[in-house]
Amino acid sequence: MRMKQTLCILLTVVGFGFAPTGMSQALGAHKTENVIVVMIDGMRWQEVFRGADGGLIKTLGPDALGAPKERAARAQQLYSRATPSERRQALMPFLWTVVATQGQIFGNRDVGSDSQVINGLNFSYPGYSETLTGFADPRVHSNDNIPNPNVTVFEWLNAKPGFSGKVAAFGAWEVFQGIFNQQRCGFVVNAGYDPLTAIPATPELALVNTLKAETVRIWPDEAFDPMPFHTAVEYLKVVKPRLLFVGLGETDDWAHAGSYAEYLNAAHLADSYVRGLWELVQSIPEYRGRTTLIVLPDHGRGVGGKWTDHGKDIPESRETWMAFLGPDTPALGERESAGPVTESQVAATLAALLGEDYHTAVPRSGTPIGDVIGK
Ligand SMILES: [Zn+2]
Repeated sequence: MRMKQTLCILLTVVGFGFAPTGMSQALGAHKTENVIVVMIDGMRWQEVFRGADGGLIKTLGPDALGAPKERAARAQQLYSRATPSERRQALMPFLWTVVATQGQIFGNRDVGSDSQVINGLNFSYPGYSETLTGFADPRVHSNDNIPNPNVTVFEWLNAKPGFSGKVAAFGAWEVFQGIFNQQRCGFVVNAGYDPLTAIPATPELALVNTLKAETVRIWPDEAFDPMPFHTAVEYLKVVKPRLLFVGLGETDDWAHAGSYAEYLNAAHLADSYVRGLWELVQSIPEYRGRTTLIVLPDHGRGVGGKWTDHGKDIPESRETWMAFLGPDTPALGERESAGPVTESQVAATLAALLGEDYHTAVPRSGTPIGDVIGK
């Protein structure tokens, strides 16, 4: 199965390359030919828009992590600032210097912008499934690694001639195997600690595969974020997919563990990874000026003492945020008095950016976000 996939991808790269500009124009006036989706598991809108919480940053994480006092002191030094706008820029500098000036970001309740999941469960599998299929399905109600009964917009696009073999997904959490339905979907889904063997190993990829096998494992079903990120970067450089998913997980894990310092560090690292992907694609001719980036979480979290948790009994954890940056998205920046937008709109939005009408094909999916696609 893997071997066939490898051959298929290599043939596609050699044979077709990127869709000619004319094809894209025939599907509507848009410049986006590639989309990268980065999801940051359980990253709260509160930290995204207000920066590190002055009360929580002083709390110490569990002793079991080691040096909780030093971790908290360092986090305070790195992320504490006088105002919310300084704090958020210290925490997520790429989001606040580049995305918020050249793109759009929804979800700051402090200025009347709302973004949320509609699945009612407020945990990961239902959140990813809602985002990637465009609808909530009551059958999707657990985090078990079972094949998604529904087709994601990734699988839907991979079935189209311009995208076949140009779709790939990488994730820290092994359950992405089920969410994307690895057995059925027909594209590379690399998740958890699985080595990437679907392409010939570059020296960097060989090293990442080794680190996946040898690095200490804290969570049995989730690798540290550098693993999926660097795997995805190597794949991007070799195959140049048109649709790429990168799922990061440490924010959620550290939050459940009660370490606010490590939760912030994971958010900061995720922001640097988003910058890394954006700067990388701007350096590659096939991507430069033709790529849209979408960044969002799969759910929110509770407030106050419940910041560590989420789920259907924590209503605030339905609250999310989402950011868009690309050649078709007007630079409206931080959205005020906007929305509500829902995660169920993301699938049709990303398809529309690529000139494809997912919402008509899958009517139960949310409608594309007009402000983002420039309509
Ligand atoms: Zn969680």
